[in-house]
Amino acid sequence: MKEPAEEQILNALRTVQDPDLHRDIVTLGFVKNLRVCGGSVGFTIELTTPACPVREQMKAQAEEAVKSVEGVSVVQIEMTAQVRGREKTGEALLPGVRHVIAVASGKGGVGKSTVSANLAVALAQTGAKVGLLDADIYGPSLPLLMGAQDGPLTKETPNGLRLVPVAVHGVLLMSLGFLIDPEKAVVWRGPMVGSAVRQLMSDVLWGDLDYLVVDLPPGTGDASLTLAQQVRLSGVVIVTTPQRLAQEIAYKAVVMFRTLSEGQETNIPILGVVENMSGGTFGAGGGGLAAKQFGVPLLGCIPMDAALCMAADMGLPAMIHNPQSETALAFRSLASALAARISTLHYEPETTGG
Ligand code: ADP
Repeated sequence: MKEPAEEQILNALRTVQDPDLHRDIVTLGFVKNLRVCGGSVGFTIELTTPACPVREQMKAQAEEAVKSVEGVSVVQIEMTAQVRGREKTGEALLPGVRHVIAVASGKGGVGKSTVSANLAVALAQTGAKVGLLDADIYGPSLPLLMGAQDGPLTKETPNGLRLVPVAVHGVLLMSLGFLIDPEKAVVWRGPMVGSAVRQLMSDVLWGDLDYLVVDLPPGTGDASLTLAQQVRLSGVVIVTTPQRLAQEIAYKAVVMFRTLSEGQETNIPILGVVENMSGGTFGAGGGGLAAKQFGVPLLGCIPMDAALCMAADMGLPAMIHNPQSETALAFRSLASALAARISTLHYEPETTGG
């Protein structure tokens, strides 16, 4: 039988669409390394995030499409991911980081740090390179939540002494909690907050990261301002609980980021809302209402889970403590939804190669 031409294979693959980017995978440049040998066809599909929610579906569709081409008997597809959609920030502060994601809430106690920690672990478990920056300088809880026993090491570099983030549960973590004495209260004044947050970026060897998740202090304030002004944020995730009051307070955080955007060259998108402690005594559905009110997607609902709370006290994020639990599933789906939203918002076609 005649060997199928590469063009025929590519044409077949043009019928496979990325549901978020609304274009076919050939036009998007996802198809790489195409080889045709007799009736055997092999190629790579390179997604824009390893956390792609439709990865398996896309693979199955591509396989079916290529198998329908005359002369094809065997199809081998390798699924990979290269987080692109945006050049590395290239800025002096975080030169190797592709996406900086801020996690914010209107008030404390809604589970912002818990969501940040589990989101970071869930993204890392998909194969992405992930950092977690605890910018909640008033109450840096991530070393405890992540169960990080030892503080960071230091390294001499041509630019001076730098901190090496702590590798824990597949994530690189840095927190002021490692550096300040927990017995001593720190009184923070506005400008100090900004410079502390800045140092957590400039004095840390973050290296190359696909995502840097930043846990902001609750409320609206200096840390958010510093972040918004000094790095190019890929967007903000707002954590809220189902109660009405929490939504109203969350709205203030949304308004603040939208206002901060006004002074910037580029917009700071609100990536979406996460409803935490869903289905508990507070009921459910508030996150959805909030998302609607803010005009952004509801990225996920994390259930009220007593086991999560107990495991957190032992330094085990839910994603590690019980990866098959409903809560871990909810975090996994949140990570996928968020990664898809970022890929969509920041999609830029590749400029080199093909
Ligand atoms: P924040 O960062 O908003 O102040 P934390 O992440 O520190 O909030 O969470 C506050 C408390 O709520 C912690 O004791 C945490 O274990 C608990 N918690 C967070 N999310 C949940 C949940 N989904 N179910 C049960 N407890 C939770």
